[in-house]
Amino acid sequence: MPYEPNMPPGEHTPPISGTEFASAQDVEDADDVLFAHPPRPVTRWMCGCGEPYPCPEVRFAHLVKHARVAL
Ligand SMILES: [Zn+2]
Repeated sequence: MPYEPNMPPGEHTPPISGTEFASAQDVEDADDVLFAHPPRPVTRWMCGCGEPYPCPEVRFAHLVKHARVAL
């Protein structure tokens, strides 16, 4: 059956299905996004005072202790 470009659009509506939700371009973009945003598990030590560990106070305390050991 030959394709008829002059057919009125109303006669020609494609069935709405799940595949219509995302165009090929959308899928390509999604691939790019997923590639650029890989999940990265980050383990971060948090100090009891709420700062990232070691906080300045902890660093100073370590300094003091190491200094005492060194003496
Ligand atoms: Zn702290």
